[in-house]
Amino acid sequence: MVSLAASETDERLQRARAAIADVSDPEIPVLTLGDLGVIRDIGLEEGGIIEVTITPTYSGCPAMKVMEFDLATALAKAGFAEARIRTALAPAWTTDWMSEAGKEKLRAYGIAPPAGKASRRALFGAETALTCPRCGSGKTTKISEFGSTACKAQWRCDACLEPFDAFKCI
Ligand SMILES: [Zn+2]
Repeated sequence: MVSLAASETDERLQRARAAIADVSDPEIPVLTLGDLGVIRDIGLEEGGIIEVTITPTYSGCPAMKVMEFDLATALAKAGFAEARIRTALAPAWTTDWMSEAGKEKLRAYGIAPPAGKASRRALFGAETALTCPRCGSGKTTKISEFGSTACKAQWRCDACLEPFDAFKCI
């Protein structure tokens, strides 16, 4: 059990939250890990050690080690040198965990955010056409399952003819 006074516990948790608030996704620097929905929990372990639980966007995501390192570094800078980063694989991350602010940032960055709900896609099986992040046209075609990173697919806009990355819906 945590032996600290309740107010001190809150204060430490708040400082830890603030410390990792700006840690960004290694592959999409405009997104914070919070925007992405990767950070599941921040808690205090025995002795007041901060433990952050993260869930990878998909298992085997090569960016995960970088995320862990960046989080640990941010926490160490804020005075939590002993912080632990724990990876939880269940429940599995879905694009539904991405915040609306995160989707907006993706669009502004030129990457089409995931459309709709993962559960709905699973139900209907079909992939809906994405909106072009550059011109806003709904006439888009998927070119390849593989974009600049494994987390993204490559699409092309049929209106402005620009190719763009799209965040894969999982
Ligand atoms: Zn376009």
